[in-house]
Amino acid sequence: MKPANSVFSSYGTSIFEVMSQLAKEHGTINLGQGFPDTEGPEDIRRVAAEAVIAGPNQYPPMMGLPELRQAMAEHDRRFYGLEIDWQREVLVTSGGGEALADCIFGIVEPGDEVVLIEPLYEMYLPLVRRAGGIARMVRIEPPAWELPRAALEAACNARTKMILLNTPHNPSGKVFNRDELGFIADLAKRWDAYVMCDEVFEHIVFQGAEHIPLTTFPGMRERCLRIASAGKIFSMTGWKVGFVVAAAETLAPVAKAHQFITFTTPPNLQKAVAYGLGKEDAYFSGLAIDLQGKRDILADGLRDAGFKVLASQGTYFVNVDIRSVGFNGDDVEFCRHITAEAGVTALPVSALYSGDDVRHFARFACCKQDHILIEACKRLKRHFAK
Ligand code: PMP
Repeated sequence: MKPANSVFSSYGTSIFEVMSQLAKEHGTINLGQGFPDTEGPEDIRRVAAEAVIAGPNQYPPMMGLPELRQAMAEHDRRFYGLEIDWQREVLVTSGGGEALADCIFGIVEPGDEVVLIEPLYEMYLPLVRRAGGIARMVRIEPPAWELPRAALEAACNARTKMILLNTPHNPSGKVFNRDELGFIADLAKRWDAYVMCDEVFEHIVFQGAEHIPLTTFPGMRERCLRIASAGKIFSMTGWKVGFVVAAAETLAPVAKAHQFITFTTPPNLQKAVAYGLGKEDAYFSGLAIDLQGKRDILADGLRDAGFKVLASQGTYFVNVDIRSVGFNGDDVEFCRHITAEAGVTALPVSALYSGDDVRHFARFACCKQDHILIEACKRLKRHFAK
């Protein structure tokens, strides 16, 4: 047989899948993959269930149900003061993941340079490469995760088609501040580049930090592709309903990619998400407060178990320096070790870098029930006290 396309097949099985499988084999508390262990708001699920019975269940419009596009435009007005034309500036996708693919495939031409900030969510690099883009990597590093401005500036040039920005950032928990965002905006304007703004964790931001969409910066409305995810907003990661919000002309080629990839997203889920986006402000602030409480339980517990815990300003994640408990090995060995010996699973941060020189940090997910987080920390404490 002739070989398959080399880009995707050059990658192994996703690290999330590998660690989750290992977690299953050992029956551990899995804090490796970031998904909540509860079912999500019952009222929203009820709308979805009723909609599947009542119908319609045939192809919804390619851009998404009007009521959902209207709800997203209204969401962006309510939280960010954005004026969005729901008919031309909102695209519904099958999850934030599809939105990433649509933006990259819709905009990047073979030979275009794309600037990525690592560590990164693992879909980014394969998609850029599959689109024929040339990846220019810039890195933020633990423990401070500071934006390396000189390196970022050096990575941009006239061939830069797109900058991929993820804030709040997975896996670091960093929320880019106004000053950093301004720096990125200036580079995008200087080099006439698009910015794909992966903001799936927009509502999971903790006290002291603020999520500011880059598209709200002067001159950035035409350049930014803002990505959102209902899976994250409503704690139902399996739902795979996402969005791209962008100026009409910027969105048009992205909608074409969507048209040729999934075309639509299940109508009952769209209906339910439209209902959910209309929830009162207290729902959205409650989500952040709830997860901040969980971050604190996990961070305190990990500290009590002897770990040096890195600051987390948002997302589902808390990172630790594994050297602080005297572990003599790299992060992959550490994650395998605690899975087999302590009954807890985490994710090696090195897996989210393209190089392998950051090897002493592990990512734990805090989006679990409190008693599960407490038990996980207890197990780690018991293990490393030996
Ligand atoms: N971007 C980031 C940074 C993510 O963490 C995720 C999901 N973990 C996605 C995109 C994909 O979102 P969805 O699950 O809605 O496809």
